[in-house]
Amino acid sequence: MSNTPYYHQVGKEIEVFEHAYKNKIPFLLKGPTGTGKSRFIEFMSHKLDKKLITIACHEETSATDLIGRYIIKGTETLWIDGPLTKAVKEGAIIYLDEIAEARPDVIVAIHSLTDHRRELYIDKLGETIKAHNDFMLVASFNPGYQKGFKELKPSTKQRFVAMSFSYPDEKIETEILVNETNIDKAIAKKLVNIGNKIRNLTELGLTETASTRLLVDAAKLIHSGLPKRLSVEVAIVEPLTDDLEIINALRDLCNLMI
Ligand code: ADP
Repeated sequence: MSNTPYYHQVGKEIEVFEHAYKNKIPFLLKGPTGTGKSRFIEFMSHKLDKKLITIACHEETSATDLIGRYIIKGTETLWIDGPLTKAVKEGAIIYLDEIAEARPDVIVAIHSLTDHRRELYIDKLGETIKAHNDFMLVASFNPGYQKGFKELKPSTKQRFVAMSFSYPDEKIETEILVNETNIDKAIAKKLVNIGNKIRNLTELGLTETASTRLLVDAAKLIHSGLPKRLSVEVAIVEPLTDDLEIINALRDLCNLMI
């Protein structure tokens, strides 16, 4: 088996996940992009030694995409299980990333899997299948503090154990950067300071702020030899906004810090 992915615990998420798994309660990760949600699930599936099936949900993701469909092959019609059906049968962990983006029929389809029934109804086959004992449903969701993000209904949220993911504290985030990229600790610290500075600039009205992912990307570029300030500009400042004035202001600010 491949190596365990690197994940630095930030709170009590590992224990909570283990207990949710043991008790067969679905798990919801809340939080903005780039805060380690996917990495955490990769890590947990490794730790529990379970197969992980990840689905990046988007506006077009439908229940059919998850459950399965008939395809025509020559003169035959074949039924193909979708990823959710596979996970339910094989006892895998399914991770529905950004579940709120998916079409409403996805939420309907997972209902009977998220309560005591733990079963999946396949309407096209008229079949109901019981979930394998090891099956677990995990979803992530970006709470709609900002415009453009879809909400998840309270009645859906209440079917999960939920935890918020945010930016780790300075010490942990510095360690993450060093571990992920082998960058000098001193430079990692500066990048974390830049991240925190930008996170506190709420008046800029950025839709998303500097995530750990952006800091990791900047650290990678610096480690591979790109000048520090240029790395920060292209990995942190430019991805955050298209507003030229804000780009200039952020660039000046970052240049003072690294
Ligand atoms: P999300 O799924 O929340 O969008 P990811 O899991 O893809 O975010 O995290 C983005 C990157 O940030 C990862 O590839 C990893 O480099 C880094 N990262 C964030 N948090 C952690 C953590 N706690 N431990 C290890 N790496 C982390």
